[in-house]
Amino acid sequence: MEKLTNYINGQWVGSKENHLIDVLNPATQEILAKVPLGKGTAQDVEKAVASSYEAYRSWSQVPVIQRVQPLFRLKSLLEENQEDLARTITMECGKTLAESRGELQRAIENVETACATPVLMQSEFSENIARGVDEFMIRQPLGVCACIAPFNFPGMIPFWFLPYAIACGNTFLLKPSEKVPLTMQKVMGLIEKIGLPEGVINMVHGGKDTVDALLEHPLIKAISFVGSTDVARYIYAKGAANGKRVQAQGGAKNPVVVLPDADIEVTSKIITDSVYGCAGQRCLAASTIITVGDQNGTIKEALYESASKRLTGYGLEEKVDMGPLISQASKERVEKLIQKGISEGAKVLLDGRNGPVAGYEKGNFIKPTILENLNLEGELIKTEIFGPVMSLVKMDSIDDALQFINGNNYGNMACLFTSSGAHARRFRNEANAGNIGINIGVAAPMAQFPFSGWNDSFFGDLHGQGRHAIEFFTQTKVTVERWLQEWTRKF
Ligand code: NAD
Repeated sequence: MEKLTNYINGQWVGSKENHLIDVLNPATQEILAKVPLGKGTAQDVEKAVASSYEAYRSWSQVPVIQRVQPLFRLKSLLEENQEDLARTITMECGKTLAESRGELQRAIENVETACATPVLMQSEFSENIARGVDEFMIRQPLGVCACIAPFNFPGMIPFWFLPYAIACGNTFLLKPSEKVPLTMQKVMGLIEKIGLPEGVINMVHGGKDTVDALLEHPLIKAISFVGSTDVARYIYAKGAANGKRVQAQGGAKNPVVVLPDADIEVTSKIITDSVYGCAGQRCLAASTIITVGDQNGTIKEALYESASKRLTGYGLEEKVDMGPLISQASKERVEKLIQKGISEGAKVLLDGRNGPVAGYEKGNFIKPTILENLNLEGELIKTEIFGPVMSLVKMDSIDDALQFINGNNYGNMACLFTSSGAHARRFRNEANAGNIGINIGVAAPMAQFPFSGWNDSFFGDLHGQGRHAIEFFTQTKVTVERWLQEWTRKF
């Protein structure tokens, strides 16, 4: 059984922590590896930060055009190894192979976008802001930047930050989720080959103790976090209290509105893909489906039809549409939430509980579930489920739907399905969320756009990806300059 090692200063080194936890395949419960977890990982952080800091001193002086060369090599290596990495994601995280391949494609696109850093971090210059005086602003790197990643996109989320951070001249220290550490373990094996100086990218395994050591370390200048809202809030507060720049993306509860003029067939297919893709374990999964004016239940029937056709199983099998939940604890949590909805008055239209998958009886499976008529005053309507559960709610108008959406504590995504341009425009203008979909079920920003969560879905100012990442990973310096010449002596 592989005991995972850290990647520090270009070497694979064992952790100082002896307590190990199992990394399990969520479909089979096979133990894939063991990962260190506990207070001893703080010593690993100490070692990694020392390496990152030393590497920063010379890496920050390397010309930007040279800093992006290893990223071109990384892109090629990720493409060459995409299938092997996709299988690893599926084995440790549970999603289907097609979903794992798609996730890696998004990672590669971030590497490609970061290759434009020589242009993206260019300066601004104003000549003659006063007689003979010029002023310019440059962007300089921050220093050692750390990333704390969640379990649900092991191959993509570190790439919302990693390529931009190093292209801007910082060094980067990653802590993957202890639930899915194998994908980035493999990626580090590729990073070893791209010609980066030792210490520019380091990786330390662990959990909360590791995170606290990162948040407390004085040499770490910036923290990029993605995970649940409670932890995001904690990271933001503690990181800021320790003087760090922080971007912390949190959880979600994404509403989708279907107007009577939407194309029923296409809409129901897109919505079920959004709700059940990655078994609902996506921060951009549609959760509450608001049907407006569906008097005869046509939309509801189409959603039911589409959801009940989805095949749940082991993600490595090609025909499977939906894999398991990440852990037994997660499965129990989702089952309890379904029960909570029922106790609050919801009716079960499609029940995915107690549906074992043949051949994988020990897997953490819940099949597609639909609850209808949720209590708008209840708890479930406000709670992130992070599982394959669609909650149907009826409303009379787009006004009611917008009022409901804008009372949401989260603000990761809101979507509208319609054939009316006027409704679409109003919705994208008024909905209180940072990522909007119009006839789109997963409004995931491409690498050149910021991943724009709002409210309790994001703590900070600058998001991951694109220009926001360039701004997050640099600090501005303004110089006002005068060179004396004969004519500039006269003020
Ligand atoms: P999580 O918050 O449990 O863990 C995320 C990371 O934080 C892990 O690396 C973990 O080791 C660490 N951590 C966990 N508890 C901690 C604690 N008490 N103190 C310090 N560190 C701690 O999240 P998860 O279960 O891995 O991921 C699922 C969550 O992430 C969902 O809520 C989902 O919506 C959210 N998510 C958000 C986005 C986004 O872009 N907004 C993207 C993906 C996932």
